[in-house]
Amino acid sequence: MLCPICGFENSKFDTKCKSCGAFLQNQVYVLNLFETLGLLIFSPSVGFHRIILSRRKNFSILLALLFGIAVSFDIFYLAKVGEKFENLIFLIFNMIWFGAVLGILLVTLVSSVLKILLIKYKDVKFKDCFAMVSYSMFPLALSVFILLPSILAVFGIYYFTESPGPDKLNPVAFYIFYFVGWILKVCSLLLLLLGLKHVTGSFLKSLIHVFLSSISLFVLLNLLTEAIKTML
Ligand SMILES: [Zn+2]
Repeated sequence: MLCPICGFENSKFDTKCKSCGAFLQNQVYVLNLFETLGLLIFSPSVGFHRIILSRRKNFSILLALLFGIAVSFDIFYLAKVGEKFENLIFLIFNMIWFGAVLGILLVTLVSSVLKILLIKYKDVKFKDCFAMVSYSMFPLALSVFILLPSILAVFGIYYFTESPGPDKLNPVAFYIFYFVGWILKVCSLLLLLLGLKHVTGSFLKSLIHVFLSSISLFVLLNLLTEAIKTML
């Protein structure tokens, strides 16, 4: 961002000119959850700009926890844990605590990878990456309130069992939920791509970063699924 007074080239996220101290843009102090999510949907670069400028990254921990619960739902499905738990309540209880821990770990891991990839952009700190990742994952985080309860309402514990599997019990419902789940995953990754594009200004670079983060997440989740299968 070019200073209007002295012409010094500042970064996109500076609020004051580094050379003469002139005002460049308003500092953001707090993030309003619904306002920020609205911005991410209708004007993603403005949304991510506010997230990075904000002093306090409100709700990013909460979004990371919810994202983790959505991921652990998938892991429990892939690991076919249904037979291992006495009832659905006990399974959900374990899924929630496991997911909450996992969410913080996953977002921390992806943010650390991004912080290293974005080493050139010194004004983008780790907490900015953390907030960017957790806010990008909001479509998956919101699935905890709508999609996952709908799946549980239709299939109950049989969503997590192998024989009969949910795809045999009610194929139509299963594939509709499956499709919606994938749309939410793609939307989350697309948002992360747009966030990185806002920071780097390069679509290709952002695509490579999102690809690398997705691959590391995919490998990690597969390892976790295998680990859970052997542990239970
Ligand atoms: Zn200046």
